Amino acid sequence: MYRSHNCGELTAAHINTEVTLSGWVQKSRDKGFIVWVDLRDRYGITQLVFDEERTSKDLIEQAQNLGREFVIQVTGTVIERASKNPNIPTGEIEILVSKLDILNKSILPPFTIEDKTDGGEDIRMKYRYLDIRRNPVKDSLIFRSKVSQAVRNYLSTEGFIEVETPYLIKSTPEGARDFVVPSRMNAGEFYALPQSPQTFKQLLMVGGMDKYFQIVKCFRDEDLRADRQPEFTQIDCEMAFVEQEDILNVFEGLTRHLLKEVNGVEIEKFPRMLYDDAMRLYGNDKPDIRFGMEFGELNEVTQHKDFGVFNNAELVVGIAVPGGNRFTRKEIDKLINWVKRPQVGALGMIYSRCNDDGSFKSSVDKFYDQEDLSKWAEITGAKPGDLVCVLSGDKNKVRAQLSALRMELAEQLGLRDPKVFAPLWVIDFPLLELDEETGHYHAMHHPFTSPKPGQLELLDSNPGEVKANAYDLVLNGNEIGGGSIRIHDKETQAIMFKHLGFSEEEAKAQFGFLMDAFQYGAPPHGGLAFGLDRLVAILGGQETIRDFIAFPKNNSGRDVMIDAPAPIDDDQLTELSLKLNLKS
Ligand code: ASP
Repeated sequence: MYRSHNCGELTAAHINTEVTLSGWVQKSRDKGFIVWVDLRDRYGITQLVFDEERTSKDLIEQAQNLGREFVIQVTGTVIERASKNPNIPTGEIEILVSKLDILNKSILPPFTIEDKTDGGEDIRMKYRYLDIRRNPVKDSLIFRSKVSQAVRNYLSTEGFIEVETPYLIKSTPEGARDFVVPSRMNAGEFYALPQSPQTFKQLLMVGGMDKYFQIVKCFRDEDLRADRQPEFTQIDCEMAFVEQEDILNVFEGLTRHLLKEVNGVEIEKFPRMLYDDAMRLYGNDKPDIRFGMEFGELNEVTQHKDFGVFNNAELVVGIAVPGGNRFTRKEIDKLINWVKRPQVGALGMIYSRCNDDGSFKSSVDKFYDQEDLSKWAEITGAKPGDLVCVLSGDKNKVRAQLSALRMELAEQLGLRDPKVFAPLWVIDFPLLELDEETGHYHAMHHPFTSPKPGQLELLDSNPGEVKANAYDLVLNGNEIGGGSIRIHDKETQAIMFKHLGFSEEEAKAQFGFLMDAFQYGAPPHGGLAFGLDRLVAILGGQETIRDFIAFPKNNSGRDVMIDAPAPIDDDQLTELSLKLNLKS
């Protein structure tokens, strides 16, 4: 028996008990006549003591030779500590050791296994198994497990069936590139790894499964943006015989359950916002509504004067920064430079200070009088003491720029409290999105999303205006889930593919199986998927997902621990028919 107890459970109630513990040496303090060792396992830390008076000389010597991260087993008696540590659960006791066995030695770890470590990101990734011994990573993984468990409990109770779908499949378009796997047995042919189980879950509905879920890996070969992983986990769900309202209610229930179970937070009804309103009021389809600073459109009150910049703009739009009038000129200049960075891309920023006495002082006083500026304040909701920041230009660009500024200011002003949870449904997304570069429309969600009833006809005349039965769940400014009611008849699906630029043959070759299935009594259905990694990070009060993934990839998509991806040898290439025949 390696242990009778773990390193986190012994308290004063165990005094005088004989126990056996196993774990890692966190650190030791050697005073010559007395040695203390902190023994660590997943559950906590227990202090071991070896001293001249009560321990044999041999045993003290053994303890003195223990190195960091040695794996040991000890037997001893629980005794009361002389100097107690109120910060840890085992702080009242220590173990007077009578027997010590080294189960395995350790070479010196490349960084300290402490909550605050001296190891940088790269080295911790390379030795991820050591990083996992640290509380911040360990606790995040335990937290993730708790969330997954709560998801399974809730959905199972609601009658959902967990079904596994295959990983070696054909492309499912979710807007990214596929990772592909060469098939040895079918020379020159490839499987694609699923970007999501979308088509399979729809086929499960045709198969009558009715309520499906799966906690599942998805693979997307995207250009890496910060905090994106090429493989990630979704809570993937689908239901048959449902309308949008049913889906929103069920998954609002799931999210509410998680917030309560995991965070102890109770939220009554999640607000809903139309996509168009989200864009108009926040410049963003995933607004953080923990704070205000809603956009105020100022075209009407700015475009009648001689200020050319505003007169020529498609949109003039501002926000009120609470308490922003206290910013110095230098601080405002910094903000102006911030919006002019290439990542944001604004040409400049106009501002108006709202003085405590109700007067205004703007950077364009030459063009606008006090009455004009008071309208700016009124429309943006600025109060005395605030600062109105105004950007102008092309509607879509300027909204994105002001949205970035709003988030930056909120961060600076401490308005993004990770302990506050503000969920929001964004609904009625457009069906199609114009790709500015190619001039083509593509599906905003995916090609299986159904247009709103009665809007199919608009596809020909005004494709950009067609709205979909598509929705996102947003939490604290992050999209944590999204889905749609699906098309479930062959004709509509064929029309969709045509509008997305597929020829009939292409559509048949790629998605013939789905359109065939739709001919055999496909029920009306819909669903959504949550991004588990991000959801867990946000519930855990953090924005980076990496600590919540046991073995994440770095920003270049590499696993630096196992050194993947890696070349494969010639024989393997030949076997997979991948070897370039240079002669031909
Ligand atoms: N498959 C979709 C996605 O991965 C989710 C859904 O529509 O259910 O975003």
